[in-house]
Amino acid sequence: MGRVVAASAIREDGDQPVDTELALLLGGTQDHQVEVAYEYGPSLIPPRSSDRFDMWRYSSLLPLADGPISYPLAVGGTPLLASPRLRAEVGLSALSLKDETRGPTGSNKDRATALVVEHALRTGVGTVSCASTGNVAVSLALGTAAAGLGAVVFVPAQVAEAKLRLMLLAGATVVKIRQGYERAFALSREAARRLGWCDRNTGLNPLTVEAKKTVAFEIWEQLDRQVPDVVVAPIGDGVTLAALAKGFRELIHCRVAEKMPRLIGVQAEGCQPLRCSWLEDRPIEAVEPRTIADGIAVGSPVSAPAVLRDVRQTQGAIVAVPDEAMLSAITRLARAGLIAEPAGAAAFAGLEVALEADLVGRRESVIVLVTGTGLKTPQHLRQVGRVHEVEGRIEELEAALQA
Ligand SMILES: *Cc1c(COP(=O)(O)O)cnc(C)c1O
Repeated sequence: MGRVVAASAIREDGDQPVDTELALLLGGTQDHQVEVAYEYGPSLIPPRSSDRFDMWRYSSLLPLADGPISYPLAVGGTPLLASPRLRAEVGLSALSLKDETRGPTGSNKDRATALVVEHALRTGVGTVSCASTGNVAVSLALGTAAAGLGAVVFVPAQVAEAKLRLMLLAGATVVKIRQGYERAFALSREAARRLGWCDRNTGLNPLTVEAKKTVAFEIWEQLDRQVPDVVVAPIGDGVTLAALAKGFRELIHCRVAEKMPRLIGVQAEGCQPLRCSWLEDRPIEAVEPRTIADGIAVGSPVSAPAVLRDVRQTQGAIVAVPDEAMLSAITRLARAGLIAEPAGAAAFAGLEVALEADLVGRRESVIVLVTGTGLKTPQHLRQVGRVHEVEGRIEELEAALQA
């Protein structure tokens, strides 16, 4: 398994080395995103022949001591889908969707939960806590329940009802914060420190980035060990995008890949602090989120410095999409067989904006991350098409189908 040899805090004024032991302790003590490094080489990459296709396949590049994995839920190894219909519609012959809705709770948060809970099991921590706009908390509630641990989750008062019910069904202690996600984040951190919980908070716990980077390794393997030209991903706190960048960078460090994909981040028009900062080349300013896409309704993203660094370094971009475009994207993805929530469909909506802005070439290989299932957000499933209702006779049916 992977041995961490260095750690650095990712800050606006540049990366700074930090103590590796401290960085990994109970979710880190840092106020910045921390990235850890290994002794890289080709031997850290699993051989083609190995049969396991899940997140633990990449244990040599995860900060875990040797030993069996106790986390009970299946995580990672999600499909890469090539929809001929979407390829034709969008006009991209090498477009694929990375279906991250296939985690145990239907979002890419399940990767981070798995590694944090595995770490908690090994270190004997009984309670794991987090702040969340919804999906992290659902993922943590179910993940800790499966592992026999406790969870305390801090959510904004306007959290989606179905998500809230899932947290409660799994037996988590749920705290609603009227002041919203920003405050939930700060309060959960303070509470974890005071009460000795393991803090799963996204970005600040380096395990969250480490787990989420495995999606890059999977994409590379699923493309027969090729790096795509472009990867499009939604940005909430920015961990998903920063982790993608770290994963592809590590493939280069391990000397099995030679280039980075261009990373295109997608924010909601009603919550685009990173896009504004990137466009105008100025420090990030927190905003009040106004979007139906709760997964990306983050006004002050934790991983902002890493996202800006990675988008610039890969000659990528950040685009914004209106809620309306996400709702349309949900319909189009459904017609390719994939059920997404608004944040989960944001990258696909963003791809169209990127194409119009000539940020993506028609012949390039492009991966779009679909990060969360629409099954938890029935309120955002549009009523489209029409229902044929009949009494029950075949003649009636024939007539109805011809009408
Ligand atoms: C959390 C989330 C995102 C954003 O991920 P970050 O790592 O916070 O940038 C996007 N889509 C869905 C469905 C999410 O749950």
